[in-house]
Amino acid sequence: MNLILFGPPGAGKGTQAHLIKQRHELALIATGDILREEIKKKSSLGLEVEQVMAEGRFPSDEIILKIFEECLENVKEQGVILDGLPRTLNQAQKIDQIFKRVDRTVDIVIQISVDEDELIKRLSSRIVCKQCGTPYMEDSSFHPKGVCYECSGRDFIRRPDDEPEAIKTRLKVYNDQTKPLVEYYLNQGLLKVVDGMKPVAEVNAQIEALLGATQVLTRKSGCLYSAQDI
Ligand code: ADP
Ligand code: ADP
Repeated sequence: MNLILFGPPGAGKGTQAHLIKQRHELALIATGDILREEIKKKSSLGLEVEQVMAEGRFPSDEIILKIFEECLENVKEQGVILDGLPRTLNQAQKIDQIFKRVDRTVDIVIQISVDEDELIKRLSSRIVCKQCGTPYMEDSSFHPKGVCYECSGRDFIRRPDDEPEAIKTRLKVYNDQTKPLVEYYLNQGLLKVVDGMKPVAEVNAQIEALLGATQVLTRKSGCLYSAQDI
């Protein structure tokens, strides 16, 4: 199964992606995490995208799609979770083409829906593990008591693009460039919406229910295909 986690910055895509990955044998492709890793390493790609990302704007589609294709080659047969990708119509169309070439399809697009005031609140109080980037909430019940549950890291930092000016830019860029993808996936019958205003565990339960139904459908169509084949 190949799934896309879709939604504005701060909706909870990263949080849910890590939970889904723990329960299912899916590989996670999170372009934001990969770019931040390049920035940390001070690679030429990292240096190229650092300023653009800090301001809340997008690096070019070419950069994003190159990262995506490289990741996809590495995961081989495994299903994938795309977190924060695609973010433009061009990326969505190219991903469909790339998937087709390697005999994959997008099986489900899960939109996490959250009000804008709540997004600003979440982004303003987000801290991430310095080592692996797992997101947490400052001063809340999600705070990992000083230890990251993914990698046991103990240092937590704020992302430069979680500063007020960059948050404003990111929400505008989302509305202008990413939100139109809702229609693209609606037209293909792939879009499912979950209420992201609910607590993390409840959002996860909504997602798991959708994934359960999708897996049954995928299995069923697999059977039909072999029956026709015989
Ligand atoms: P995204 O990847 O969509 O930008 P994150 O998963 O990083 O979002 O979540 C943004 C912030 O909101 C993080 O600090 C995270 O701990 C917090 N968060 C995520 N889901 C919820 C939720 N359902 N309720 C409250 N806070 C949440
Ligand atoms: P969030 O969902 O909280 O904004 P991400 O980690 O997904 O966080 O993305 C952070 C930044 O990385 C984006 O604001 C953008 O600059 C860059 N980025 C990540 N994925 C993409 C993408 N698919 N297309 C363009 N830019 C991307």
